[in-house]
Order: sequence, then C-alpha cells, then structure tokens
Amino acid sequence: MSQSAASRVAVVTGAARGIGAAIARKLAAGGMAVAVVDLDEKTGAETVDAIVSAGGSAIAVGADVADSGQVAAAVERVVAELGPPTVLVNNAGVLRDNLLFKMSEDDWDTVMGVHLRGAFLFSKAIQKHMVDAGYGRIVNLSSTSALGNRGQANYAAAKAGLQGFTKTLAIELGKFGITANAVAPGFIVTDMTKATAARIGVDFADFEKATVSQIPVGRAGRPEDVAATVAFLTSEDAGFVSGQVIYVAGGPQD
Ligand code: NAP
Repeated sequence: MSQSAASRVAVVTGAARGIGAAIARKLAAGGMAVAVVDLDEKTGAETVDAIVSAGGSAIAVGADVADSGQVAAAVERVVAELGPPTVLVNNAGVLRDNLLFKMSEDDWDTVMGVHLRGAFLFSKAIQKHMVDAGYGRIVNLSSTSALGNRGQANYAAAKAGLQGFTKTLAIELGKFGITANAVAPGFIVTDMTKATAARIGVDFADFEKATVSQIPVGRAGRPEDVAATVAFLTSEDAGFVSGQVIYVAGGPQD
C-alpha cells in the first residue's frame, strides 16, 4: 500500500452540499485529503473552507460527473495537487421526478447520466490509481428508492442499477485490494428532500412529520448518519466488506 491512512486521498462527488458535504467533512476529519467535486468549483468552497478551518486538507474541483473529458481533467488535477486517489465516493445526484406518462426523455437521460454514467466514469478513471496502490475503497450512493418509488421510474432504475454496478466492481476489483459497496439512504433532510416536498406541493414540516411516522427509529435521517457509514466502508478496517448494500434508513427495507 503506497498511502498511509493519514495520507489517503479521497474524491467525493456532489460534495458542495447535503450528504456529499457531510461525507467530505467526515473523511477529512479522519485524516484523508479530500477532493470536493461538484458542478461548479466555486460551490465547493464552503465545504473546503469548513475542512481547512477544522485543520484538514481539501481542494474544490469543478466537474460534471457525466462528462468524460471533465472527469478525466478532474482526476488529473487531484493527482497533481493531492496525489493518486484511493478512495472514491460517487455521491452526485439529481432528481427529475414525474409519473411515467409525463416523464420526458431528458428527465430519464439526465438522471441516468449523473448517477450511472457519472459513477461509471469516475470509477473507471480512478480504479487504475487504486490498482497501482493495491488498495482502494469505492462507495456508491444508492437509495431506498431502488426498491421502487412512485414518480421516480428514472431515479429508482438508476439507484437499482448502481447496486448491480457496485457488486460487479466488487467482483472485478477485489483481487487488487479494492472494495466496492453501496450505501442506500432513506429519508435524509437535505435540499433534495426539500425539493421533493415542494414538487408534490406539501409543506416540508408536514412532509417530514408524515415520513418520520413510518421510520422505526422515529426521526429523520441526517447527512451525518450517511457520512458515518461511508467513513466505515472507506476505512482500512472494512477490507472484508465488499459488494454490500447498506441501508441507512432508520429501519429494515424489503
Ligand atoms: P443534494 O443536496 O441535491 O446534493 C447533490 C449534489 O450533487 C449537489 O451539490 C449538486 O450540485 C451535485 N451534482 C448534481 N449533478 C451533478 C453533476 N452532474 N456533476 C457534479 N455534481 C453534481 O442531494 P443529497 O440529498 O445530498 O443527495 C446526495 C446523494 O444521496 C445523491 O446521490 C442522492 O440521490 C442520494 N440520496 C439522497 C437521499 C435523501 O433523502 N436526501 C436519499 C437517498 C439517496 P448542484 O448543487 O450544483 O446542483
């Protein structure tokens, strides 16, 4: 292994806000140097400032995860400025919810592009650095929606697809010391869940209350709940956990 735990380099996509920002902060607090990837480099500055003020190391990198040229350039920059990455968290995500009969081709393609193509492009670009190091940790953000959710045919398909993608990476890359796992959050309070409430025309407080009433642990999830799970899966100690889908949803899922 070429990097010690303290000097590991992690790439977290969609890390300007929400769950990705919490993951980036958590990994940096554990000693990793973190590339905060988001669509616009400027939007990653807040996450980077929080990490640096807490004594950590991070850079903001602008890239659309669905664009192969931008992904290649982003990875090159990470290698040049932080060193070869051996931890990758494919977290960037978008919603384009609609019932099937109203869902446009663009709604479908955008969601597939960010979640599936994005995870594919970043994993492909970074795995060679992991193979060279004989060590790697990949975590893909799935969702309880992978099990089916009204108004989310595109998102559910992408999140279920990520589970198959994850298991396949685990099979192909295991012999190089690389693990791949998926984390599937349930209801986590972020801009994304606020947007969902707005789309269905429900006040967020009412939406949260109704959702929480169905969650066994009796509270909404926080980005930090997901970040803690990702921190375990990206740790050296998790080397015998691979190809798994961990639901972070406050209760069991079917
Ligand atoms: P969020 O608050 O909407 O944050 C998503 C981030 O991804 C944003 O910073 C966004 O950038 C970025 N992003 C979107 N498209 C991108 C692209 N093409 N290239 C690079 N970055 C891009 O969402 P979140 O709630 O934190 O969700 C994070 C992940 O968890 C997603 O994969 C989501 O599907 C998954 N998830 C969330 C929940 C939940 O309850 N919140 C539940 C299950 C799964 P901009 O701000 O510039 O658009």
